[in-house]
Amino acid sequence: MKKRVLLLGSTGSIGTQTVDVLLAHPDRFETLGLSCRSDIETLYAQANTLHPKFVAAEVPLDKTRLPEGTEVFSGPDAAERIAEAVDADVTVLAISGYAALAPLLKAIKHGRRIAIANKESLVCGGALVDAALHLYGAELLPIDSEQSAIFQCLQNGRREEVKRLILTASGGPFFRKSREELRDVSLSDALHHPTWKMGRKITLDSATLMNKGLEIIEASRLFGLDADHISVLIHPQSIVHSMVEYRDGTIMANMSKPDMRLPIQYALTYPERIGSPCEPLRLDLSHPLEFYRADPDRFHAIRMAYDALRADGILPTVFNGANERAAELYFAGCIGFLDIEDCVEHALNTVENRPADSIETIAAADRTARTAVDRFVKRKH
Ligand code: MG
Repeated sequence: MKKRVLLLGSTGSIGTQTVDVLLAHPDRFETLGLSCRSDIETLYAQANTLHPKFVAAEVPLDKTRLPEGTEVFSGPDAAERIAEAVDADVTVLAISGYAALAPLLKAIKHGRRIAIANKESLVCGGALVDAALHLYGAELLPIDSEQSAIFQCLQNGRREEVKRLILTASGGPFFRKSREELRDVSLSDALHHPTWKMGRKITLDSATLMNKGLEIIEASRLFGLDADHISVLIHPQSIVHSMVEYRDGTIMANMSKPDMRLPIQYALTYPERIGSPCEPLRLDLSHPLEFYRADPDRFHAIRMAYDALRADGILPTVFNGANERAAELYFAGCIGFLDIEDCVEHALNTVENRPADSIETIAAADRTARTAVDRFVKRKH
């Protein structure tokens, strides 16, 4: 039996790589639905190749550009509506940013297996997502390369045998720069990642280390471990995707060439492993493999993420919302590279914490964080 797949966010970086995986294994997968926000040209092309029963976009769609009989959802809540309507075996959540939280909760409600690439929804959703998973018996399988690595390493032991998770970070393009040098880095420098080819926001987050900060919180959500049991190691080659240390001192590592199609495929075929078009890893050609301490005094994003995770409540949402807004302002040329950290720090210091017990509270925290950043930037300039 083919696995029936719903792909939310099909036109982004993870979405298009998921389409590659689906096309590589037509005997394994049937595409039931595709959704995007506004890149409808890409969506039309995908729909005419994969022939899904349903497509969704936030903007209006032209039915004549789609295969005959395709059902269409459009409007601002199109992703939520397709998540609700389509009965898939696996829903891939590849929508970027905080916007993925509502569709995630809808998919969970239908008791489905969700292959999740989006970290912001887990960071912000926290206990709410956890409670929904238990209530509806849905299952989350990580696509984020670090979390997929940890998920795979965790299969070698029992949970109580785990000493800590070790997330690896490439360190981004500026790992060897001093803080003084970071002041003047350009947008194009920030968007040049040394090992991974990814979307613009996550590439910037890799340069600021905000991505690793989000992943610390994401790992805590996915694997139920607190901040003291999650550490970060800088590994510029991105060959070791993350590790799990067990209580006897054994460390399990997950290694491959950096290629997102591998964790995507594993989340789709789990618990099976099948052949893949990804280039095999030649360790004899990959040396050296280097590892460095991730200094929280140099990488403020990591320190702030630990603080937000320990405080929990709405502060992880504030951390994320402030970072999303600061990234927008950076892309628009309104602030400098190091200002991103200052914006997030300011929001964390000024927004009052409270329990993140409803989607309304979380949405309000997200808005408050963005407003705090805007005010801060206005005052500074
Ligand atoms: Mg990652």
